[in-house]
Amino acid sequence: MYTHETDWQDWRWQFRNRLRTEAEFSKLVELTDAEKQALRNPNFAVAVTPYFASLIDKNDPNCPIRRQAVPVSEESVRKGLPDPLAEEEMSPVENLIHRYPDRVLLIATETCNMYCRHCTRRRRVGFKEKAISQEKLNNAVKYIRDNPNIRDVLISGGDPLTLSDSALEKIIAAVRSVAHVQIIRIGTRAPAVNPFRITPELVNMLKKYHPLWVNVQFNHPREITAEASRACALLADAGIPLGNQTVLLRGINDSVAIQKELVHKLVQIRIRPYYLYQCDIAEGIEHFRTPVSLGIEIMEQLRGHTSGFAIPTFVVDAPGGGGKVPILPQYLICQTPEKIVVRNYEGRIFTYPEPNHKRKEE
Ligand SMILES: *Cc1c(COP(=O)(O)O)cnc(C)c1O
Ligand code: SF4
Repeated sequence: MYTHETDWQDWRWQFRNRLRTEAEFSKLVELTDAEKQALRNPNFAVAVTPYFASLIDKNDPNCPIRRQAVPVSEESVRKGLPDPLAEEEMSPVENLIHRYPDRVLLIATETCNMYCRHCTRRRRVGFKEKAISQEKLNNAVKYIRDNPNIRDVLISGGDPLTLSDSALEKIIAAVRSVAHVQIIRIGTRAPAVNPFRITPELVNMLKKYHPLWVNVQFNHPREITAEASRACALLADAGIPLGNQTVLLRGINDSVAIQKELVHKLVQIRIRPYYLYQCDIAEGIEHFRTPVSLGIEIMEQLRGHTSGFAIPTFVVDAPGGGGKVPILPQYLICQTPEKIVVRNYEGRIFTYPEPNHKRKEE
């Protein structure tokens, strides 16, 4: 498939050689009928780096890597919403989503290193494969400049780490030029799907724009390879705090054991588990959804049983643009003005007295 080791480790080579067609995938795995049908469907955006494809277990049609990468015919099921989070309604200027008072999400590109089968933004990524134009970037930055409440800008997509260092730097520098922007975050799947994208040159550029945070998406412990670890070490060594956003996916990572192994591997490569997402009700991904009770059970089996900072927050992104809502097991059993009754991770019950004095008026 490739001739030189240097090609394999070149992120652009990985990007250019993404697997996209039935013919390309069939060289790698024996495709099922459901996969063949889906690969012939022009409505699905498909592209997988040779690196991520190399992690597929050829003998397992339910391989968690394969299920995230190779489409199946269930994606045609017309259930759910094209835009479950009402992102288009909350977009004051093109490529910008403003849902919360103090932070915005900037869609830097509609291109990804890999098109995740479970993508919630699948209505708009992967078709045009183009980055934000200069004019749209100017409009987005003007909106941020005109809104002094915005202190946090999340550069996302698509995957901003499909852009060249210079194209990405242009976007980051424009955002950084706004004095009231305190922090910049980048949302990317590159460390998991094209880890070679993280180069010393890239991190040297990024660290000029601190405080800058990076959020990644690892969904399964098998994605945490030597290559991914090296990529995350480069970012962490540049002083970039790393967070992870996992999507809870039926048949891929829907068990306590997998989630526990995942968070343990994440903290070993200095990534803090940030969110565990309930899979959205986006059109085409119904087959990936799990009952909310599973997420609660995972939280129950993590809290108290492992390091506190290895525990993500389980969230449901409320349909219609309500934002992320945390869902927790019930630890508060009863609350009166005098006391609360709680249970701990082992199910033991404790009474905790309230102070005699009232809360001070705010
Ligand atoms: C998730 C999200 C954010 C960031 O939310 P945090 O809880 O601060 O990580 C901001 N804007 C939009 C539109 C989002 O979907
Ligand atoms: S990298 Fe993100 S935006 Fe791109 S397909 Fe995957 S989930 Fe969607």
